[in-house]
Amino acid sequence: MDSGTSAIELALRALGIGPGDEVITPANTFIASVLAISYVGATPVLVDVEPGTANIDPRLLEQAITERTKAVLPVHLYGQPADLAAVQEICDRHGLELVEDACQAHGATYRGKRAGGFGRVAAFSFYPAKNLGAYGDGGMVVTDDPAVAEEMRLLRNYGSREKYYHEIRGYNRRLDTLHAAVLHAKLPHLDGWNEARRRHAASYASALASLPVELPAEHPDSGHVYHLYVIRAPDRDALRAHLTERGIATGVHYPLPVHLQRAYRDLGHREGDFPVTEALARQILSLPMFPELTEEAIGRVAEEIAAHTRGLDPAGGPRAASKGGIDLP
Ligand SMILES: *Cc1c(COP(=O)(O)O)cnc(C)c1O
Repeated sequence: MDSGTSAIELALRALGIGPGDEVITPANTFIASVLAISYVGATPVLVDVEPGTANIDPRLLEQAITERTKAVLPVHLYGQPADLAAVQEICDRHGLELVEDACQAHGATYRGKRAGGFGRVAAFSFYPAKNLGAYGDGGMVVTDDPAVAEEMRLLRNYGSREKYYHEIRGYNRRLDTLHAAVLHAKLPHLDGWNEARRRHAASYASALASLPVELPAEHPDSGHVYHLYVIRAPDRDALRAHLTERGIATGVHYPLPVHLQRAYRDLGHREGDFPVTEALARQILSLPMFPELTEEAIGRVAEEIAAHTRGLDPAGGPRAASKGGIDLP
């Protein structure tokens, strides 16, 4: 597929989801999850997340089900699978499709099984910054349903099985061959890279343990692959400014929740509708995280966070140039 967004969209199309249908997804996600629902003409129904993992809260998910609900699109945010047993159980009981947005979770596991193997269809993104990235946009769907696989092959290739004969009005959403070659070369390294990310997360956890920031929570059933390492800090903006000044790049994923975006004004939400998501948006900070990160760099990030929380400056002034910067991927 040509992107993760296309992967989600065509997965929903292949399942026959369209106008009049509702698809439930977390309020705390990258907007592409929600856009894909809109593209097929269905209505996105947002629910709040669990404060620890920042993933969809199964209790709230169940409350959001109506007679129009057709599918649930849990997002494995930051590389940690959502509580899939709980989500699957609710989907089974209500006869709903489970489609995984695994766009941040290549190689992650839930109870020892890979993300992407739970829903009837799952979507991955190969955007360059993801744990497995092409040199440009790319995406993939996985399914164990041959009929869905066949439909998806038609949808991504002009609705054509045999060249110049078109069974449905499909799209051009193929993965570029060049990117396929890049991904083919990189795939064998994915597990090693994810292991490195997990080691860095453990190093961050011990380096930051005594500081007044909240560390990412690992769900006991999940094998997190740390696409992002996201802490929570009450004075996030000041901390972020301090780190930026010291040459340490950070991110906020994401600063404005979907329900407060102008693009989704018509959903009729207001501030206060998803309090956990909104609190996260104010406090989250993504620290540098990529396989090649060093212990030394992690130590420096922790040192600067400590310095900020003490109101001190161990470097004795703004940005010690000799120390160099630490970038996001
Ligand atoms: C990246 C991402 C997408 C979309 O993938 P693209 O390849 O950028 O289209 C969808 N959902 C989530 C959670 C993502 O992180």
